[in-house]
Amino acid sequence: MTNPKSLQTLLAHTDYTPPEGFAAFPVPIHHASTVLFENVAAMRSRKWQDKSGYTYGLHGTPTTYILDARLAEIEGGTHCLLAPSGLAAITMVDFAFLKTGDDVLIPDNAYNPNRELGHWLESDFGITARYYDPLIGHGIAELIQPNTKLIWAEAPGSVSMEVPDIAAICAAAHAHGVLVALDNTASAGIAFRAFDQGVDIVMQALTKYQSGGSDVLMGAVITRDAALNQRLQLAHMRLGFNVGMDDVYLVLRGLATMKLRFDTHDAAALTVARWLNQRAEIATMLHPAFPSCPGHDTWKRDFTGAGGLFSVVFDARYSEAQTDQFVDSLKLFKIGYSWGGAHSLCLPYRMQHMRQAWPHKGTLVRFYIGLEAPQDLIADIEQALARLD
Ligand SMILES: *Cc1c(COP(=O)(O)O)cnc(C)c1O
Repeated sequence: MTNPKSLQTLLAHTDYTPPEGFAAFPVPIHHASTVLFENVAAMRSRKWQDKSGYTYGLHGTPTTYILDARLAEIEGGTHCLLAPSGLAAITMVDFAFLKTGDDVLIPDNAYNPNRELGHWLESDFGITARYYDPLIGHGIAELIQPNTKLIWAEAPGSVSMEVPDIAAICAAAHAHGVLVALDNTASAGIAFRAFDQGVDIVMQALTKYQSGGSDVLMGAVITRDAALNQRLQLAHMRLGFNVGMDDVYLVLRGLATMKLRFDTHDAAALTVARWLNQRAEIATMLHPAFPSCPGHDTWKRDFTGAGGLFSVVFDARYSEAQTDQFVDSLKLFKIGYSWGGAHSLCLPYRMQHMRQAWPHKGTLVRFYIGLEAPQDLIADIEQALARLD
């Protein structure tokens, strides 16, 4: 029996449906721009905001809904929206909650593109962005103006690793009706319970531990409040933030092993940091588990781990050229941005350009400890230190 449709039509249509009853652990990858409706009435009655159904690829497929739900569950929230990068997730929050005439407070040690976004809001959008000392705690109350709408926080802060008192910042913010958004990337949503501390909006770069493969860029914004989520949904739609389903799959694949990886990074980073802390070349250890890290007591109170990141300040007797040579001499540690994968990384930073009041004279070098054996990483650092003098 031949199919009456022409060959050209058969290329795009098939009558075959596979048998029911397939079951497996991986989440199905639903690729779609167009989502099909049964009839016109179904199309007309569907609301894109309503996650009990589907309207268009941009607003979600079963694949993205499953990742949304998992991330919200892990973070202890109820709603989640995905963005094409961690930075896009930050932008989504700003566009959802800030408008011309508003004021936003950003920690002085924020992830640098967040800081840069503040400059853009100020120069082109009529929003004031002010930068605060991350260790300010309750003192943030004095910075809050009638037009302050949003306070960003990051714990620990990027690169400088200072640990803010999130509960104190939230208490002061809420007393003035201001929202607090936390960049909770460093804790992967598992080592710091942001909502328990009073945070309203949690942002995560899934690019890091969640994906764990150094091969995906993605971000998430999580809330536990339907009204906040609605505003975020509008920004998400208006900005046209889409994520690729294959990338969503990779993040879902990474999640199952994230806690094991995080704990392994955490233990290895402690081992390497303890060794480095004994070295005369190092003036200050900026790992939150060390008393020399500003905010260490807050970290001990609020966090269950630090993961693979820490920074060190070299003794000021070494020039930047020397510390650059140290980084260049490392063999296992590679030079590159981002982190969260299996491979160790190392980068020098010019803190004078990133932090208004930076007390240290020596060069800051940030380490990301991957999943290699800590003794091999220590041996690598030791041979590179030996070239310093
Ligand atoms: C990496 C990172 C981001 C941005 O994530 P991308 O996916 O690279 O855009 C934001 N905040 C922090 C703290 C990060 O480490």
